[in-house]
Amino acid sequence: MQVRQYRMLIGGTFRDARGGKTLDAVNPATGEVFAQFPRGGSEDVDDAVTVASAAFPTWWAAAPLERAAALESLASVITEHAEEFAMLDVIDNGSPLREMRKDAHNAARLLRYFAGVVFEQRGDTIPGLPGRLNYTLRHPFGVVGRIIPFNHPLMFAAGKIGAPLIAGNAVVLKPSEHTSVSALRLGELAAEIFPPGVLNVVTGLGSDVGDALVTHPAVRRIAFTGSAQIGRSIQARAASEVVKTVTLELGGKNPVVVFPDADLDRAVEGAVRGMNFTWQGQSCGSTSRLLVHRSLHDEFVERLSRAVGALRTGPPTSEGTDVGSIVHRAQFDKVMSYLKVAAEEGLHLVVGGRAPDDPELTGGLFVLPTVYDDVPSSSRLMREEIFGPVLVVVPFDDYGDAIRIANDVAYGLTASVFTRDLSTALAFARDVEAGYVWVNDVSAHFLATGFGGLKDSGVGREESLDEVLSYTQSKNVNVLFD
Ligand code: NAD
Repeated sequence: MQVRQYRMLIGGTFRDARGGKTLDAVNPATGEVFAQFPRGGSEDVDDAVTVASAAFPTWWAAAPLERAAALESLASVITEHAEEFAMLDVIDNGSPLREMRKDAHNAARLLRYFAGVVFEQRGDTIPGLPGRLNYTLRHPFGVVGRIIPFNHPLMFAAGKIGAPLIAGNAVVLKPSEHTSVSALRLGELAAEIFPPGVLNVVTGLGSDVGDALVTHPAVRRIAFTGSAQIGRSIQARAASEVVKTVTLELGGKNPVVVFPDADLDRAVEGAVRGMNFTWQGQSCGSTSRLLVHRSLHDEFVERLSRAVGALRTGPPTSEGTDVGSIVHRAQFDKVMSYLKVAAEEGLHLVVGGRAPDDPELTGGLFVLPTVYDDVPSSSRLMREEIFGPVLVVVPFDDYGDAIRIANDVAYGLTASVFTRDLSTALAFARDVEAGYVWVNDVSAHFLATGFGGLKDSGVGREESLDEVLSYTQSKNVNVLFD
């Protein structure tokens, strides 16, 4: 197999790392190295921040529609290259083709949405003394550092640069070292659209490139999507040189709660879909805790077991595959370690719980979709984000019990409730500690509705006007005019 070499985009040119080091891009479904890309360091971040700082004033001064047109052009280019991007992400990340194809189109939709709100970045006029005018202006930060995780490589690379760019900032994007190729390919296409330095893509390890970006004194705004553990360290590190604004989209241990009056077909379908087995459970929004009312429990678990058992684990490149490969070896080992903990804790395994024995899959990092039942609150599987295809089920007795269990974790990203009772639904939406709540549905994201977490799941809201405004700072002006 031909190993393609990718380069970073810095100041409109394609570059290796100054230190000359590279990283391998590995196909997790086969173990093959299919590409190499730069292992950048702090000196490369410094170069990127310098060119971004130089590009910022002109980009900010551009007519709003010019910035919007650039985002729309990028969206069109992504749509034209959707199949190529989908296949790149499949090979790099291990998720099935069907899902990665959706990611490419979602990336384009996000960019189009942000292009469309360019004129919504408004200020206020504030009533005050006669003869005075008081108003606010919105001011971009200058250079924004955007750090993203491995689970939706292109969708995040493209979708998460839209808001800072439309607000007039220049961006330094740092993709995951495990899935960098689609971001670098995006850089190749974006170089034809954006003025040099407006968008830069720097690859490498989080502890090198990521940390250099987080601590760089000229980057006043950091937006991070990733684990809570790294998010917390970023919050601390960001303050080490200068004061910064940091937003965090972190992990989840999201509950899906099924009340006795729920539509069972819908709830079973929701419990399976919400778990995002189709990304091997590697989703911040995975509903990885299923709380079922005791009166439904036995029937529900039986139906769930059949639905989960019917998912096809297979080569991610195949159209018919539902569940692909875990993204990289360390993540695979982490998932397997939780299966070991489950065995040690004596948890009741309903389905899965092991790697598949299909000989076609032996070279890859596959884990069968897994369900454990009757899992106690004390279990690590109830409290920790596994980020793998592992769903835990717990019965509950009444509303108070359900809310107590649902809120009994450090995370607070999403929650879903299945009920036909309006009061139960509205009370749940009020009482559950989560930043996004679905009633009789799961998982789906809707453009313009702010996504983000409470508690250890993060700070800030994205995919909405809130996200755009978060890349601006408000400036107050007081004018004495007579
Ligand atoms: P991760 O935290 O290990 O890495 C995320 C990014 O941070 C990578 O680019 C990595 O290189 C970088 N990084 C690592 N150490 C760093 C450091 N010290 N300084 C700066 N950057 C550093 O996460 P992951 O394994 O790539 O992704 C999985 C996590 O992401 C899960 O916890 C998941 O829930 C979360 N996630 C959250 C959302 C959301 O919207 N809330 C979306 C997707 C994923």
